[in-house]
Amino acid sequence: MTTAARLRPFGTTIFTEMSALALRTGAINLGQGFPDTDGPGEIVDAVTAAMRSGEANQYAPLAGVPALRAAIAAHQRRCYGLEVDPDDGVQVTFGATEGIAATMLGLLEPGDEVVVLEPFYDSYAATIAMAGATRRLVTLRPPDFALDLDELARAAAGPRVRMLLLNSPHNPTGRVLERAELAGIARACVEHDLVAVTDEVYEHLVFDGEHVPLATLPGMAERTLTISSAGKSFSFTGWKIGWCSGPPRLVAAVSAAKQFLSFAGGTPFQHAVAVALDDAERHVVPLCATLQAGRDRLCDGLRAAGFGVCVPQGGYFLNADLAPLGVSDADDWCRELPARAGVVAIPAQAFYADPDAGRTLVRFAFCKRPEVIDEALARLSAR
Ligand code: PMP
Ligand code: GLN
Repeated sequence: MTTAARLRPFGTTIFTEMSALALRTGAINLGQGFPDTDGPGEIVDAVTAAMRSGEANQYAPLAGVPALRAAIAAHQRRCYGLEVDPDDGVQVTFGATEGIAATMLGLLEPGDEVVVLEPFYDSYAATIAMAGATRRLVTLRPPDFALDLDELARAAAGPRVRMLLLNSPHNPTGRVLERAELAGIARACVEHDLVAVTDEVYEHLVFDGEHVPLATLPGMAERTLTISSAGKSFSFTGWKIGWCSGPPRLVAAVSAAKQFLSFAGGTPFQHAVAVALDDAERHVVPLCATLQAGRDRLCDGLRAAGFGVCVPQGGYFLNADLAPLGVSDADDWCRELPARAGVVAIPAQAFYADPDAGRTLVRFAFCKRPEVIDEALARLSAR
């Protein structure tokens, strides 16, 4: 079977499909996660300065431009006390998306198994399949989406399990894993000698609790590959500058795959992200406050309109339950919503392997201006 045929169940991403539907119908797009306000102007200025410098418009080195690799290493040290080698321990990628794909292709053998938390970001299933590997799922259940450590320990114990893939803050639930949960995950990784891959693209967007990278737990730095991206931290999702960092042997495997995907790209954007990361804390504080206000606005409004609301601790998204409204299938509901109410949202079924799981849940993005959230709420209330 060709790779395309194997991937067909995943088809076009639900995000692409729903954004196209929003454009076609003129509906408010609370589906695909992107902010409707640009990030800081000074970071945009850094791109144009790099473009005009005459030294930043050609191929970057495979690993990424030295200034960005140094900024990533400094960021990991400053924010988390993690030591990363800027020369051998960092690989810049075309967004976290390419980092995830290169990680799966570089580190997995056909037949390997990967422990994944469900619901999961859609590219995990597709890229694990591209590598010829399979998933072992550990399901997070509403309303609090807590991690069952016994279930996790059972999933990690299989003889073919090679990797554990973690995402916190989590898309689509907004869960920020707690220390006790991370400690259980670390125990399972050490006990079964697993490579941990952590998707931390929402690392700076935490409203309640604290983001703790798995790599900071005892015994984990040497077995963890950390993936992040500038898109969410600085509100430039279209720039697609991401990175993987960790022990050189893991990063080398990612680089080996990445060189034949895109080789290198976005040189001026890499220079600007280096400038942004050096000042990350200053940029993310106001962004986080704005997102938290958006979260609260959407939670309150949906509650008032009769939805069940699962309050997220971080990220761009919340899950709402349609069951209290008497709706039994979120997929049907979301597909009719643009025509009926002029709003686009994502059915949570898109993030589950089992089509019956999450059947009444809908993911809404709150990374939008207050007036946009209010208008969406008015439309949803009148639906
Ligand atoms: N991981 C998660 C959990 C995401 O939500 C996204 C979407 N932005 C990505 C990875 C991809 O990030 P990027 O846009 O940097 O490719
Ligand atoms: N991460 C974004 C989301 O979950 C979408 C990115 C994409 O379209 N692939 O909405």
